[in-house]
Amino acid sequence: MASMTENEIREIVTKVLNGMQAGSSSSASWDSTQYNGRKFVGIFGDMNEAIEAANRGYKAIRSMSVEEREKIITEIRKLTREEAPILAELGVKETGMGKVEHKRLKHILVADKTPGTEDIVSSAKTGDNGLTLIEMAPFGVVGAITPSTNPSETVICNSIGMIAAGNGVVFNPHPNAIATSNYAVDLVNRACKAAGGPDVLVCSMIKPTMESAAIMQSHPLIKLLVCTGGPGVVKAVLSSGKKAIGAGAGNPPVIVDDTADIQKAAKDIIDGCTFDNNLPCIAEKEVFAFDNIADELIAGMKKAGSYQITHEQADQLAKIVLVEKVNKAGKTVKIVNRECVGRDADVILAKIGVNVGKDIRCIICETEFMHDFVQNELMMPILPIVRVKNIDEAIDLACKAEGGRRDTAHMHAKDIDNLSRFAKAVETTIFVKNAPSYAGIGFGGEGHTTFTIAGPTGEGITSARSYTRQRRCVMADSFRII
Ligand code: NAD
Repeated sequence: MASMTENEIREIVTKVLNGMQAGSSSSASWDSTQYNGRKFVGIFGDMNEAIEAANRGYKAIRSMSVEEREKIITEIRKLTREEAPILAELGVKETGMGKVEHKRLKHILVADKTPGTEDIVSSAKTGDNGLTLIEMAPFGVVGAITPSTNPSETVICNSIGMIAAGNGVVFNPHPNAIATSNYAVDLVNRACKAAGGPDVLVCSMIKPTMESAAIMQSHPLIKLLVCTGGPGVVKAVLSSGKKAIGAGAGNPPVIVDDTADIQKAAKDIIDGCTFDNNLPCIAEKEVFAFDNIADELIAGMKKAGSYQITHEQADQLAKIVLVEKVNKAGKTVKIVNRECVGRDADVILAKIGVNVGKDIRCIICETEFMHDFVQNELMMPILPIVRVKNIDEAIDLACKAEGGRRDTAHMHAKDIDNLSRFAKAVETTIFVKNAPSYAGIGFGGEGHTTFTIAGPTGEGITSARSYTRQRRCVMADSFRII
C-alpha cells in the first residue's frame, strides 16, 4: 500500500465505487463486508457475536504489555496515514457529504494527534499511613456508536484511545456510512495483527440497526458506552443504565467585535465554516458581528469565497434545507434535510436557482436572530450573520444560539475583557479565540485531537484516559522511602 501512487488509489476507489449509489441513504447499496475483494475482519451479522469476539480481543490485549499495545497503535497510525486517501474518497462517495481533501487531512490529524498509551498516567500518594497507588484500568468491552459525519475518523480515533486504555471495542456505526466505518474497523484489526496482537480486537456489524444498538446497550459484557452523534442518540445511551460518555450536537456561535483583525477574522471564519463542508460539530454555524464592523466583515468573507444571498433567498433556502416532521410527541419540528447536509455551496445554491462556480465555498446572509439558519444546527456551508449593538447583546444572543449544548464557541477580538466574558458565559467544552474552528481540535492549534467531544457528560476532548476506570491499591504503613 505504501508504494501506491495517489492516482492508483483513486483508480481502485473508483472501480470499487462504480455501480454504488453516491450518498445513498440506504445501506443496501454498500458492501460493508469487503473492499476491492479484501474481506473485512471483525464484521458480524449478529451483535451478540460481535460482542463475544470483542471480549476475546479484550482478553488477548489484557495479557499484552503496554509496549505491545503501543506497537498496535503505531501500526494503526501508519495504516491510517497510508490509506487516508481511500478512506476520504470512500467517505464522501458513500455519504454524499463533505470534501475529499478535508477528510484526508482529518485522517492524518487522527493518525498524528490522537494520544496513545502515554495518556494513561498512574499516581501515588504517600504519608504516615504508607503508600497508595492509583492506576487507570480498562473498562472491558466498550460499545461505541459513531456518526455519519466523521465516520472512519471517529472509528479510528476511538479505537486508538480505547485500545491504549486496554479495552476491546464493538461499534454500531451509522448505517449511512457503514462501508467507510467498517473499512476503518478492518484497518484497526489489520494493524493489530501486523503488530502481533489478536486477529480481531475491534468489531462491527454488517447491518447496524436500532435493534443492534439496543442489544449493545443492555449486554452484560458492555461496561462502557461511548456515543458520538446527535441529541437523540446521546439521550438514548444516557438512559441505558450503564456508564456512558455522550458527545452530542453543537451549534457553535462566533462573535466578532470591533477590536478584531476583521480581514483575518473573515478568512478564519470561512476557512473553519467550510472545512469538510461544515460537518464537524465544532464548525462555525452563526456569526454575531458588531454593527460598526459588519460591512467590512461581510466584504472580507466574500473575498474569502462566499456568496451573499438576500433575506428573501435565505427564507426560500430555509424551506429546502429544513423539513418539517411530526415527532413522537405529536409536535411538528424542523429537521435538517439530509440531502443538503455536508453538500458543496454551489450545489445548495442551485436549489434556489443561483448558479455559481466551485470557487464559491460558503453561502452567507444577514438574518435576524430568530431565523431558522441561526436556531438550527445545519451542518452545511450556510452562515447567517446577525448584527449586534455591543458585547452585551452579542454574548446574550450567542449563548442563546449555542443553546446549552456545551460544545464549541468562537470569538475574534483583541479586547481581552470581551474574550473572557464570552468564554465564561458560554460554558462550552471548546472556546477558540482568533482562529478557525479546527484549531480547537489540534489542527493549527496546540493540544491533542479527538472526534468525540463529550460536552454533556464532561469528559471534554476525550482521549485514552477517558476510557479508563480508576483503581486504588493501598499498602498500609510500608513502602515509604523517607
Ligand atoms: P445521528 O445522531 O443521526 O446518528 C449518530 C449515531 O447514532 C448513528 O450511528 C445512529 O444510527 C445512531 N442512533 C441514532 N439514534 C439512536 C438511538 N435512539 N439509539 C441508538 N442509536 C441511535 O448523527 P449524524 O447525523 O451521523 O451526526 C451528526 C450529529 O452528531 C450532529 O448533531 C453533530 O453535531 C453530532 N456530532 C457530535 C460530535 C461530538 O464530538 N460532540 C462529533 C460528531 C458529530
